[in-house]
Amino acid sequence: MPADASLAQQIVGEMPRLGLDDTFRFRCGRDLECFTRCCRDVAIVLTPYDVVRMKQALKISSSEFLQRYTISPFTPEQKIPVVLLKMNAEDRRCPFVGEQGCRIYAHRPWACRMYPLGVADPKNPTASDRRFHFLVKEDLCLGHGQGEPQTVRRWIEQEGLEEYEMMGASFRDLMLDDFWERSEELTPQQIDMYYMACYDVDRFRRFVFETRFLELFDVDEARVEAMRTDDLELLDFAMQWLRFSLFRQRTLKIRPSVARERRQALEKQGKIHG
Ligand code: SF4
Ligand code: SF4
Repeated sequence: MPADASLAQQIVGEMPRLGLDDTFRFRCGRDLECFTRCCRDVAIVLTPYDVVRMKQALKISSSEFLQRYTISPFTPEQKIPVVLLKMNAEDRRCPFVGEQGCRIYAHRPWACRMYPLGVADPKNPTASDRRFHFLVKEDLCLGHGQGEPQTVRRWIEQEGLEEYEMMGASFRDLMLDDFWERSEELTPQQIDMYYMACYDVDRFRRFVFETRFLELFDVDEARVEAMRTDDLELLDFAMQWLRFSLFRQRTLKIRPSVARERRQALEKQGKIHG
């Protein structure tokens, strides 16, 4: 998921496209001279699901994870913040790399699993222009051309990417929504809301359970109970909340009594007529 729009366009236009049954040769291992070189000075963009997996693996809250292990550079050109793994200040290495490789290997982020494959999602897919993969070749990586040929499909299976794809689907849809092209700059409050809902699941939980949120919104009881402890249920709900609050879509139901009160208040102010 390249963060840079011109790079994304170049990839969509020029990269040789790999289908699921196309093959490539690549092998990674401790015997290679380049072992763990790729875990240094690298821009790893984290998805919401990555953050949940990593903070759970480290047994810390999402707020602590974000504060200790990530940066979120934000320029006026960007509408929304992205979250990147923070490299160590002294040696520019990933905080999770050790002598034996990745110390959170089973929970490593999507981007680390995917490498050396990249994926491009054309905005409006058609029969001839749809999601495709491509090979990312970097000089430092000696794994290219090694090992047996394998298909893209096999790589996706063996790296556990299907789960990441499934859990990331609602975030990807959110990112691809036309809203981002239509909308003006978000306010600082909206940016903070977006950041919290996407990445800081524990803060979002407090927002749902420790404010008047559940007095205002009619949420299925079983779902409410699940969200108390299940980060993924809460993350899914957070995507719906963003669609409601930013995109103005009817993904959540306001309680009828609250809707009535609001309507009466607006009528009093003369903003609508009964
Ligand atoms: S998370 Fe693991 S695989 Fe990814 S850059 Fe860090 S050490 Fe390397
Ligand atoms: S540089 Fe390439 S081959 Fe070497 S450890 Fe990293 S991914 Fe594996």
